[in-house]
Amino acid sequence: MLLKVEHIGIAVKSITDSDSLFTKLLGATPYKAEEVSSENVKTSFFKVGETKIELLEATHEDSAIAKFIAKKGEGIHHIAYEVADIYQEVARLKSEGFSILNETPKQGADNKLVVFLHPKSTNGVLVELCQEIV
Ligand code: ZN
Repeated sequence: MLLKVEHIGIAVKSITDSDSLFTKLLGATPYKAEEVSSENVKTSFFKVGETKIELLEATHEDSAIAKFIAKKGEGIHHIAYEVADIYQEVARLKSEGFSILNETPKQGADNKLVVFLHPKSTNGVLVELCQEIV
């Protein structure tokens, strides 16, 4: 079961520049910065009510974020849904015919297990499923 939109991921060229832009935009400073070395990204998190905004900057040219920006420019990169049981959700979505990028959940930013669905099966939107690690 999908519980809510947990966060929206935005690909940026510079976290430093975008932190200051989003601080002005949202009227709040980021509450967390985290590097996910396995994904070659630096992240910064803002809270807007129940939903978070995750800024993502590539730390390496091989990063998916670097490739995304080279192809599409800065902008919305993914929408993340919080799920009650990530394993159950992967099985359900697979049976519905969605293309899963990583069927085994991996550790993402913000203490979460994450799975991504291929945008080709979701109208061009990269979808992340996430579940808090307890
Ligand atoms: Zn995310």
